Amino acid sequence: MADRVYIFDTTLRDGEQSPGCSMTVPEKLRMGAKLVELGADILEAGFPIASDGDFEAVEAVAREFPWVQVAALARANKMDIERAAQALKGARRPRIHTFIATSDIHLKFKLKKSQQQVLDEAVAAVTLARQYCDDVEFSAEDATRTDWDYLEKISRAVVAAGARTVNLPDTVGYSVPEEYGAMIGRMAKALGNSAIVSVHCHDDLGLAVANSLAAVRAGARQVECTINGIGERAGNAALEEVVMAMKTRHDHYPYETKIVTEHLFEASQMLSSIITFGPQPNKAIVGENAFAHEAGIHQDGFLKERTTYEIMDPKSVGVPESKLVLGKHSGRHALAKRCEDLGIALTKEQLDVMYHRFTTLADRKKGVRNDEILKLAQEVSAGAAVAGLQK
Ligand code: MN
Repeated sequence: MADRVYIFDTTLRDGEQSPGCSMTVPEKLRMGAKLVELGADILEAGFPIASDGDFEAVEAVAREFPWVQVAALARANKMDIERAAQALKGARRPRIHTFIATSDIHLKFKLKKSQQQVLDEAVAAVTLARQYCDDVEFSAEDATRTDWDYLEKISRAVVAAGARTVNLPDTVGYSVPEEYGAMIGRMAKALGNSAIVSVHCHDDLGLAVANSLAAVRAGARQVECTINGIGERAGNAALEEVVMAMKTRHDHYPYETKIVTEHLFEASQMLSSIITFGPQPNKAIVGENAFAHEAGIHQDGFLKERTTYEIMDPKSVGVPESKLVLGKHSGRHALAKRCEDLGIALTKEQLDVMYHRFTTLADRKKGVRNDEILKLAQEVSAGAAVAGLQK
């Protein structure tokens, strides 16, 4: 299928290697189960040479979910690749993901190697990895700061050596959508049907999702991403955003993934319960406020017809329902709705009194809770009763 986009989840590898996100093997298995249920195509479970824990995690994830493709990361050297292969020994659908940096800046300062040396090592690594499994992915680390002619040359060479997926990451989050799309377009054209072009974007400029989508439009068919966008520094492209952009704007992004979007919120919540932090409240798709409305004009429109202010149905991502937050910007319509939901029957006059008291209270606070609304309503009803007696 030409328009099928594979979701390569790296929550358990790139995500896990960022501050506050490390996971034990049982935690990776728990998260892994959720990612499988979500429908991720490939799970990158760890970097086996990095630690025994990572080695065990790859082994365990592959054992627990044998029908899923499980990837293990390895630098482009013999020791790393053999360690990855060993961790994947029991896997039914193993993938070795090997990488080496290709940009001048990394070659000069980090690797201290020539372009030819790096190309030779990349080819040797892929050749070796292919001895252990058919499914080999090669990543040209810091691809976006690599000379395009050299990038094309090394991409062709690793495919000739047996790589089936060529990942061209924006490792440092430096690229912008137009530039990244052009680069991916050129490489996808060069490789044709010989390999899947993959992207892996970081969010240093807040462009990881935009860059990933531009790349898909340019021919990439694998997106590497994480739940809640966790990952090195500012994080990776957020899986939930990439997927929901393609689903909500299918007119613009006519591509299919296997993600069951109704599980997105649960996956986000589970990850938050495992690592040390959750998404910020205003995070797209899964943040606490992603489907919350406080402004009166918005609440009124929303109550008349949801789609006036919501482009996605919260249920489509697993959020039970939209929230109407009652605060100083809220209107009469939302207050009346809340009273009704709380089982309080008010006359029009009572609602007017109630609304006046409510705005006075809301002016002093960040939001008004249900128990405060109940108390106000009781006061208003009691006041009316007293007024009635005095007549
Ligand atoms: Mn990364």
